[in-house]
Amino acid sequence: MTYVVTEKCIKCKYLDCVEVCPVNCFYEGENMVVINPEECIDCGVCEPECPIEAIQRDIEPGLEKWVELNRTMSREWPKISVSDLPLPDADQWKDVPNKFEKFFSANPGKKKS
Ligand code: SF4
Ligand code: SF4
Repeated sequence: MTYVVTEKCIKCKYLDCVEVCPVNCFYEGENMVVINPEECIDCGVCEPECPIEAIQRDIEPGLEKWVELNRTMSREWPKISVSDLPLPDADQWKDVPNKFEKFFSANPGKKKS
């Protein structure tokens, strides 16, 4: 079992989760972050830190697509361990549905830390 970042994170990326992870297993894309399931130790500390409940346990129903996306993109994107400012218009996007189809970007984030 692990934790996964889901659709709500797209275009929000508040990054409150990143700093609390004891094993630094978050990876940054252009407009969201993901968790590497092989590095996550299941501590659950990040889940309540996300202000929009984008982080869920992988046993929740309907999350198969997100489990796979976290696994594959964490191999491609750079590790992020230091929090940064959220995307400037994050509040505007936090409750928008179907963001994956419209806005998901496979491009990596800018950080190498
Ligand atoms: S706190 Fe939530 S919205 Fe922000 S980067 Fe982490 S998972 Fe994404
Ligand atoms: S559950 Fe713990 S180890 Fe896994 S991503 Fe969250 S803070 Fe990191």
